[in-house]
Amino acid sequence: VKPKDAPKALWRKAIDGRKKSHSPYSQFAVGAAVLTRSGKIYSGCNVENASYPGCVCAERVAILKAVSEGQKQFREIVVVAETADGGVVRPCGVCLQTMCEFFSGDTLVWLGDAKGIRECFRFEELLPHRFGAGDLPKPKRLG
Ligand SMILES: [Zn+2]
Repeated sequence: VKPKDAPKALWRKAIDGRKKSHSPYSQFAVGAAVLTRSGKIYSGCNVENASYPGCVCAERVAILKAVSEGQKQFREIVVVAETADGGVVRPCGVCLQTMCEFFSGDTLVWLGDAKGIRECFRFEELLPHRFGAGDLPKPKRLG
C-alpha cells in the first residue's frame, strides 16, 4: 500500500486528536485515529502522567475508546507525530500488543505527520511473530 492511497479523513482525525495531547513532560504530542470495520472513527492522543508508567499512547487511547463503545474490529489506524529527525513515529511494543488483541494481520497502520502520510504497514509486518489469544489454552468450564 502506497502513502498516496492514505485515508485523508482518518489522517485529519488523527491530526485533530494530536491537538488534545496531554504531554507536558516530553512535549512529544502524538495523535491517532482508528477506522472500525463498521465504519466508525475514534481518535486519540497520548496522555502523560507525572507518574511516568501511567502514560498512555495515542494509539491505545483511540483503540480503547472504540472497544469501550463495543467496536472490536478495525480496518486501519493513522498515527501522527513530529519527530526531531523528521521521520515518522512507529507504534511502541505495548501498543503493538494491544493492536494484536484487536487487529487482523491485514489491518493497515498508516504513519505520518502534519504534512501527510509517509509510511504504511500491514499489522503483521510490524509484529510478525506475535503472542495472541490463539497461544492460550482453551478456557476450561468451571463446575
Ligand atoms: Zn505506544
